[in-house]
Amino acid sequence: MSDDRRLFFAVEVPDAIRQEIIDWRARHFPDDTGRPVAAASLHLTLAFLGEVSAAKSQALCAQAARIRQPGFSITLDDAGHWPRSRVVWVGPRRAERGLLQLASLLRAQAARSGCPQRSLPFLPHITLWRQARHDIALPAPGFLWRWQVDSFTLFESQFQSGRVRYRALESWTLSQ
Ligand code: ATP
Ligand code: MG
Repeated sequence: MSDDRRLFFAVEVPDAIRQEIIDWRARHFPDDTGRPVAAASLHLTLAFLGEVSAAKSQALCAQAARIRQPGFSITLDDAGHWPRSRVVWVGPRRAERGLLQLASLLRAQAARSGCPQRSLPFLPHITLWRQARHDIALPAPGFLWRWQVDSFTLFESQFQSGRVRYRALESWTLSQ
């Protein structure tokens, strides 16, 4: 049996902001907008690794542990709808350099380790709805959520009982 696991690096969202995002979603979108992402699953993906063997994930973790860069803040002040991928998201209008730098480093390490990377630019976002209807009315953002990021996490994506769950495997601290 294969020991491959579906992995990705992401930034976690603090609990208080998670709750505010969920409340904003409930106030502004009807229930039939699409498939809502559970509060516990809200995250901002930095690099997607795909199906990875135990040996390769060990190597990727060792590389992640060598990253030395200061923390940064994330400001969520924008919302959008991508009809092609059918997702509705919130994200930063302008990402801080630290966030872009961390994502680009992790994506480069992943590519070098043989995890195929899409050539699309990195568009930092937190998905709120999947399989979104095409005719949704996107509300004006009208929010500003900001927090200091001092770590990043490797997650496993598991399909269980008909739904996707993410399990945090390991986190690394960014310097102060
Ligand atoms: P589902 O695929 O069942 O709708 P999901 O997209 O949440 O659920 P995964 O496909 O395991 O679960 O994805 C985990 C994370 O990685 C998500 O943030 C997803 O948007 C992102 N992701 C998935 N595939 C890619 C990819 N090829 N390139 C970049 N990011 C990806
Ligand atoms: Mg997916």
